[in-house]
Amino acid sequence: MTDAPLPPLDFAVTKNLAAVSPAQRAEMLEDPGFGTIFTDHMVDICWSEKGGWHRPRVQPYGPISLSPAAAVLHYAQEVFEGLKAYRHADGGIYTFRPEENGKRLQRSARRLAMPELPVEHFLQSLEELIAVDGAWVPEKEGQTLYLRPFMFAKEAFLGVRPAHKYAYYLIASPAGSYFTGGVKPVSIWLSENYARAAKGGTGAAKTGGNYASSLLPQSEAYEKGCDQVVFLDSDGNVEELGGMNIVFVKKDGTLVTPASESILDGITRNSLLELAADRGHRVERRGVSLAEWREGVASGDIVEVFACGTAAVVTPIGTLKGEGFEDAQPLGELALSLREELTDIQYGRREDTKGWLRRLDA
Ligand SMILES: *Cc1c(COP(=O)(O)O)cnc(C)c1O
Repeated sequence: MTDAPLPPLDFAVTKNLAAVSPAQRAEMLEDPGFGTIFTDHMVDICWSEKGGWHRPRVQPYGPISLSPAAAVLHYAQEVFEGLKAYRHADGGIYTFRPEENGKRLQRSARRLAMPELPVEHFLQSLEELIAVDGAWVPEKEGQTLYLRPFMFAKEAFLGVRPAHKYAYYLIASPAGSYFTGGVKPVSIWLSENYARAAKGGTGAAKTGGNYASSLLPQSEAYEKGCDQVVFLDSDGNVEELGGMNIVFVKKDGTLVTPASESILDGITRNSLLELAADRGHRVERRGVSLAEWREGVASGDIVEVFACGTAAVVTPIGTLKGEGFEDAQPLGELALSLREELTDIQYGRREDTKGWLRRLDA
């Protein structure tokens, strides 16, 4: 293996002639919500056995034409990523640790028997999209442009084996502040009848199948009056929320987060734990049993519990509910203080001493 940088791809750019006007866009960015509005363009890169990664394009955002026999529709060979672009006060557009997303996309692809997009190409795809759709990165406090890279098997073949043709896409969606009216603690339902992933399964890969298996338990959580669901892993230890990782804060300041092979290794979690370690907190990654959680809260040894991920950043957990019990969770200051430090770095309000930011528009 050599580490020589790959030459950049030569993207063919087709401008969207029906792009929305600046006035329309400003109106759409007033209150974009999450995941329903998309920018004018998208990126796609093809992969085939013969040609490798080829035909890099920036084209108008729009429907994808796909054979009904495309393997992804039948056997779910699909992986994705999620990251945000932030507008800084100087107008610059930055993203947060995108190399980590690029590497994780590769790990996810490997687990799903898919080809790996070189991280250089991944980063270039972000820059190419921002070059045409940079005006979609909102300027208001708390708003971002959510970037959604994804890859799927598009070969038309119903036999069961890794496909021979894939497509990588990047789309973007302006997102409002996740919490309107302040960060509110959430209630979570302990799913004991369902798992989102299993030992040896795909839990550590960012793939749609894990989300598909979390939807029914998520509905159960809503029926029980909860906002979110928390899963246990195959060993019966606390795993994650299905889209967010979980962190416990102990009385002595130690932060404990579950280690398990079925957990998706979140970049938000890693970053928050690094910031906490820099403040002098001890950080432990190890199995956490449900008993340790419940008894820790009861005895006062656990003083705060929070969930974290790119979309919501940090969410304090206010209640854990399960079959036959409901435990109020203690609320502290650390989760929100770490949240503020992280978002200050992301939005350029605090110095990026770790080199976590990457400028996309220059
Ligand atoms: C994306 C994701 C997370 C959070 O990861 P971040 O890199 O922090 O956004 C947590 N759990 C699952 C299952 C995920 O897909």
